[in-house]
This record gives sequence, structure tokens and C-alpha cells, in this order.
Amino acid sequence: MTTREYIALEEKYGAHNYHPLDVVINRGQGVWVYDVEGNKYLDFLSAYSAVNQGHCHPRLVKKMQEQCQQITLTSRAFRNDQLPLLCKELCELTGFARVLPMNSGAEAVETAIKAARKWGYTVKGVAKDQAEIIVFSNNFHGRTTTIVGFSSEPQYREGFGPFTPGFIMAPYGDIAAAKKAFNKNTVAIMIEPIQGEGGILIPPDGYLQELAALCKQHNALFMLDEIQSGLGRSGKLFAYQYEDVKPDVVIIGKALSGGFLPVSAVLAGDAVLGVFKPGDHGSTFGGSPLACAIAREALRIIVEEKLPERSFELGIYFRDKLNTLDKKYIRVIRGKGLFIGIELKPEARGARRFCEALQKEGLLCKETHENVIRFAPPLVITKEELDWAFVRIKKVFDTI
Ligand SMILES: *Cc1c(COP(=O)(O)O)cnc(C)c1O
Repeated sequence: MTTREYIALEEKYGAHNYHPLDVVINRGQGVWVYDVEGNKYLDFLSAYSAVNQGHCHPRLVKKMQEQCQQITLTSRAFRNDQLPLLCKELCELTGFARVLPMNSGAEAVETAIKAARKWGYTVKGVAKDQAEIIVFSNNFHGRTTTIVGFSSEPQYREGFGPFTPGFIMAPYGDIAAAKKAFNKNTVAIMIEPIQGEGGILIPPDGYLQELAALCKQHNALFMLDEIQSGLGRSGKLFAYQYEDVKPDVVIIGKALSGGFLPVSAVLAGDAVLGVFKPGDHGSTFGGSPLACAIAREALRIIVEEKLPERSFELGIYFRDKLNTLDKKYIRVIRGKGLFIGIELKPEARGARRFCEALQKEGLLCKETHENVIRFAPPLVITKEELDWAFVRIKKVFDTI
């Protein structure tokens, strides 16, 4: 079947909830993917940072095969031999005391919201059903009805109400405004240390530290959504490590499985995850032996292949190159590590046509919002491959 035929089928039988580039991929290895016509592309999105380890990492393929021949799912009605080891290894790697594994990122966010509320009622002493969580403009935390209910993006909400109460919106990056959002019912703030879907938005230096101090002062939990920014993407294991802060809760997902299956987790201390008693919360697939075995190997790859360090160094190298591009259409280039956004001027007429032009050159990336091109290649990428990409990017910016 041809690209056109696959697209026609998807348009006819699938729901139209995405606007993908018209490339039909059927194979991938490392930073490269191949379409059904046999064309080769450099992946510059990494499935929204879920494949930081590169496509079909051989160690993950092997682990998948081995674990599938052992046991895939027990449910949490019984124990399995992978879950305790994943929890221990994650705690040792991150310095947190406890782990609660889930599947999708949105489920882990929901889990963190439930934990924060229950902590508010049982530990802080907030009156029944009065808990408030402060969230931030341009946030992206997933697509459940509760989560889109506190999105500032009209399209994510339109037609999906009524929404869950108990969320207060503050402008991202503005510490004075955040200060005003706290009150005695505030149980937590939840924030992305770098907003990926928002357009690779980076708050001012010291912002996270000041937020953490506000949380401490008001006895509220400092919760970070590192589902996209974490696990090496931003040039550190976690983006919050650019500042001297210790969050109470960190939410991870995406690269936790290296793209093999949805695996997410909430990391926190005893006081927070300790609020869950048997029966309070759960998931049929969360913490499955297959998910845990894959996550353990995915984490080992991040550490052993030094993906955060690679991202940090190659990020500096690549952003320096990008800064030499003609600025006719570029408003600003933002990034930490290989987590980079090019914000275009209005006269560029949108990021989409740049992504389509880059696709023709063999580079796959995706616009976020109207005017930002996001560059987030797998972190196993080499300097030579980044040079290869830069030649294509420069050509597009010079000729479009
Ligand atoms: C992708 C993402 C989510 C949602 O994860 P899903 O696995 O798609 O549910 C939540 N928060 C952030 C910051 C994300 O990038």
C-alpha cells in the first residue's frame, strides 16, 4: 500500500483528533525512521520525548522479548518480581522515598492530584472538599476531563465541560502572581519546570526556588510534571536540577519506557504517597511486570549511555549552530539541552509550513502552537547527525 492509501484509510476509519504530517512510518532504529515508500528521516521529535533512548533500542527489544516469555501482567492483586526492583532503583536514582507506577502520563498526573488532595485533608487539615491546587497558564498535563478543565488552551476545553473544581490558574513565570494565588486551602502547586507543549517556555532563573519557598511557607506541596522535561531531555536527569530545589512530588512518564509501552510514575516522600491505603487508588496495568522490566532497562540506558550529559553538551553545541541561522523569520530560540523551541515571527506565516519543508528534506519535527518549531531528537543522536540536520534546517530557513 502507498502513503496515500494509508492516509485515506486512516481518514475514513479513524477519529480525526490529530493533524499529523503526511508521512507513514513503518520502521525505526535509533534516531532514524523509515516510511512505507522506503524514505529515511531523522526523527527530531522523539514521540514527544518518549523515545529519548532512540527507536527500538536493542537492549529494550531484548528485554521486551525476555520478559514477554516470562510474565507480562499479574495485576496488583498479586505481587510480581519486577515492581519492587523498579521502585527501589527509581528511588535510588532520584532520591525519593516512594514510587507509585501508572501507565499514561495523564494517569500519573491524576494520581498526583489525588495524592495532594488526600494529603491536604489528612495531613494539612483542609476542610472537606475545599482543597485547591495552583496550576499555570499554558500548562499541559494531559487530556482527561479533570486535566483539560484547568488548561488555558480554549480548544482543549471547548465542548468537554463540566469540569472538576479546585484548580486556581496563575500566570507562568510570574512569582508575584503566584504569591497571590495561595490561601489556607492550597494543598499544592503543579507546574512543568519547562513547558514543552506550551512552546518550550522556560521560566526566569530562580523561579522554581521561589515557588518552592512559597510552598514551604504555606504548607503546600511543590509538584513538578517532568513527564516531558525529565529523564535527560533538558540536559539534566530532571529539569528542576538547574536550580537548588527539592520538589515534594515529581511526575514522570514518556521516556520511562523508551517508547515501548505507556509507563508513568509518581515519585514522592512518605508523607505524600503514604496517604494511599489499600483500595484508595489503582490501575490494572500499572506496575505490571512487563512495564517494570522495561522501565528498569530504560532507566539503565539513560544512566549508562549518559543521556542527560549528552543532551546538555549537544544542546549547547546545537543551539550555538541554530543561533547562526538567518533571523528573518525567527523571533527567539529557547532551550535547555536538546529541548529546543524556535519561535517564529508572525510574518513567517506559521510553523507548520516549516515542518512540512523540513519533512521534504528528511527531518521530522512538529509545530507546537502556531508559531513554535520544537526540536527534540533522541538523546542518542551524534554530533555528525546534528550537523546533518543543521544543513537541512539552514537550507529551509534560507529558501522558504
Ligand atoms: C505528554 C505529557 C503529559 C501526558 O502524558 P500522556 O502519556 O500523553 O497522558 C503530561 N504532562 C506533560 C508535561 C506532557 O508532556
